[in-house]
Amino acid sequence: MSSCTVCHRATDAGLHACPRHTAELRAWLAELPEQARLLPQFLTPAGAPAAGRLGGTGRAHSPAPVDLRVLTLLGPGHADPTSADDDGTVPILALLGAWAGHIAYTYPSAARDPYGTAHTRPCEQAWPSHGESITGWCIWLTRYLPYALTHPWIGDLHRQLGDLIARIRDLTHATPHKHHQGAPCPRCGTFALVATDGQLDITCEACGHHLTPEAYAEHRTDFLHAHQAATDTTTAA
Ligand SMILES: [Zn+2]
Ligand SMILES: [Zn+2]
Repeated sequence: MSSCTVCHRATDAGLHACPRHTAELRAWLAELPEQARLLPQFLTPAGAPAAGRLGGTGRAHSPAPVDLRVLTLLGPGHADPTSADDDGTVPILALLGAWAGHIAYTYPSAARDPYGTAHTRPCEQAWPSHGESITGWCIWLTRYLPYALTHPWIGDLHRQLGDLIARIRDLTHATPHKHHQGAPCPRCGTFALVATDGQLDITCEACGHHLTPEAYAEHRTDFLHAHQAATDTTTAA
């Protein structure tokens, strides 16, 4: 029996994250590029005079202070995904790249040698098709998520990404807005379906079920019809 490394709930065989925490990981990876785009405007703390703006007073101005937390997040650097301690100084790009490297290293790549014998060995390197940017790595990690879920270290990825996104939201004050949907979740029946700004899919906050906007529209129509039919029979009786 497998269990979620985040909430310890039972999961499908061989998976180490439940649907809810898988959905959370997917949402963070979708949110991260947008948050990173916002960050540079917070490099200089609000209200700090920009160098030269008050020129003409004859005084030499010290350069505008720079928020080192933002500078670090956007900067180069290294990360060790297997290290338990996170002192809050890991740059975004380094963290994502290190995790992609870790996943690629454990991912079995099948190859045939010139004699036709199949060999399975780890991929040596991760190559994001969208380049080694924050967006590129987020797309890459999302693509490899189904594989990553089969390893217990998915809990470490969840914790590190969660800490990172919390740290960035704290600086940008941009928390994606959630829109609650009118129809219940088709899987668990709870009224917990939400659409989140910047994300295409509609997700159930109770069970982690995913729906495309088209699938939700269809489900909503069916739900309304069923609801209408039920009201009609009660009023007719
Ligand atoms: Zn969980
Ligand atoms: Zn649900």
